[in-house]
Amino acid sequence: MKDINEFLIKRDNNNYEVVIGLEVHAQVTSNSKLFSSSSTKFGAEPNTQVSLVDAAFPGMLPVINEFCVKQAIKTGIGLKAQINKKSVFDRKNYFYADLPQGYQISQYKHPIVGEGKVILDMPNGQKEIGIERLHLEQDAGKSIHDIDPNNTLVDLNRSGVALMEIVSKPDLRSPDEVNVYIKKLRSIMRYLGTCDGNMQEGSLRADVNVSVRKKGEKTFGTRCEIKNVNSIKFMQMAIIHEANRQVDLIEEGKSIDQETRLFDIKKNETRSMRSKEDAHDYRYFPDPDLLPLEVTDKFIDDIRSEIPELPDEKKKRFIEKFKLTPYEATILVSDIETSKYFEEVIKNADVKLSTNWITGELFAVLNEKNLEISQSPISATNLSRLINLIKDGTISGKIAKIVFEEMIVGDQDPQKIIEAKGLKQESDPKALEELIEKVIQNNADKVAEYKSGKDKLFGFFVGQAMKESKGKGNPQLINKILKKKLNG
Ligand code: ADP
Ligand code: MG
Repeated sequence: MKDINEFLIKRDNNNYEVVIGLEVHAQVTSNSKLFSSSSTKFGAEPNTQVSLVDAAFPGMLPVINEFCVKQAIKTGIGLKAQINKKSVFDRKNYFYADLPQGYQISQYKHPIVGEGKVILDMPNGQKEIGIERLHLEQDAGKSIHDIDPNNTLVDLNRSGVALMEIVSKPDLRSPDEVNVYIKKLRSIMRYLGTCDGNMQEGSLRADVNVSVRKKGEKTFGTRCEIKNVNSIKFMQMAIIHEANRQVDLIEEGKSIDQETRLFDIKKNETRSMRSKEDAHDYRYFPDPDLLPLEVTDKFIDDIRSEIPELPDEKKKRFIEKFKLTPYEATILVSDIETSKYFEEVIKNADVKLSTNWITGELFAVLNEKNLEISQSPISATNLSRLINLIKDGTISGKIAKIVFEEMIVGDQDPQKIIEAKGLKQESDPKALEELIEKVIQNNADKVAEYKSGKDKLFGFFVGQAMKESKGKGNPQLINKILKKKLNG
């Protein structure tokens, strides 16, 4: 995405800087909703997972789901954030067809999680992005406009599902940083098991706040907020278009109105939804049906004790313990399943070789077949077997690639493939010596040239010997014997 990063450079000789802050809506991983026991399972028939609370029948009372509270606190700890022992649920009042209550229950002045941070691994080093807050709120239902030409249909399955709104500080400076930020946030939440981060299913979406300013300026420009963007690529596209639109306005001497906009994917542009002048007055007030949420130190400490090793710490350990490069470690920890696979392989196999084979051959196959590592056609056990066969000289790296290709079909034991196909490396010095002797005899002229100083020919002899061994000769041994014979 090189052109994306250079978009402001192309414009106006790189005079402008874009400033971005994200409000990420992350669906809490939980079997039931924030204030009711209805299921949250994705993909059910419309309106089959709706309790009387979710449909806002009169007299129904919300009951807080303790598990969702734990999940929010867990996420807060993962973001190295302040956990607030007291938080308050407010009513955010507005009318919409898919909001039967007429208000959304959300935390406004007193969120459950305060300031924290996320570390980004950028190509030119690490960058810290501040987290302003994380609060719990309900999701609304879904209005469907494209099934019936004359009516809008409403599906309330999502109504009342718990969301964590994670608000960043305006610390992001490029579409690339937004990409890394979302991925890091998702990675942390997947490690914690608090949000599956599945963007296709809407489990992770964001309101994107964008402003621009001349480089070197101290104060921020006026921001526009692009609502509800549900893929990283669309976020990046929306930022580029919005930033360019704002730069154009400034260059024309016009001012920027603070407004809420939407990103039109088809037209590839942002459009105004509402301006600040008619911004909603949500008339927030504490929900009288819910007591302030108070948690004890013990409640928080118990959650803290369940926190697994997170990506940053895992990366540090991988670098220190396994001597990986920061680049390799970043790749291997970015996804919890990948890190588990890696640790499984190196239980019984060489670390360096394992790293190369996982990030090289295995990732290439997964990419090509569009598979997650949890669906890997080659199990960690069989990959470690293959690596050991290379390490102990049974097969060469070259033959290993052939074996690897075979293993993809049915996750076969490499040892069996090697036996069945007779791919075992020839490491018997006697056998190799015989075959090298033959090569030397057949190429007397080349031997003479070599001896008269044409050193480059050495590679030719190695190649011939390899060919004679049908690719199975141990390359180190061949080298050694050839040197002895030719130079001796
Ligand atoms: P609101 O409810 O008005 O959207 P929030 O505090 O929930 O306010 O979110 C504001 C978001 O906008 C934060 O992510 C913040 O980092 C970001 N933001 C604030 N000022 C700017 C700015 N000048 N440019 C870009 N983003 C900004
Ligand atoms: Mg907002």
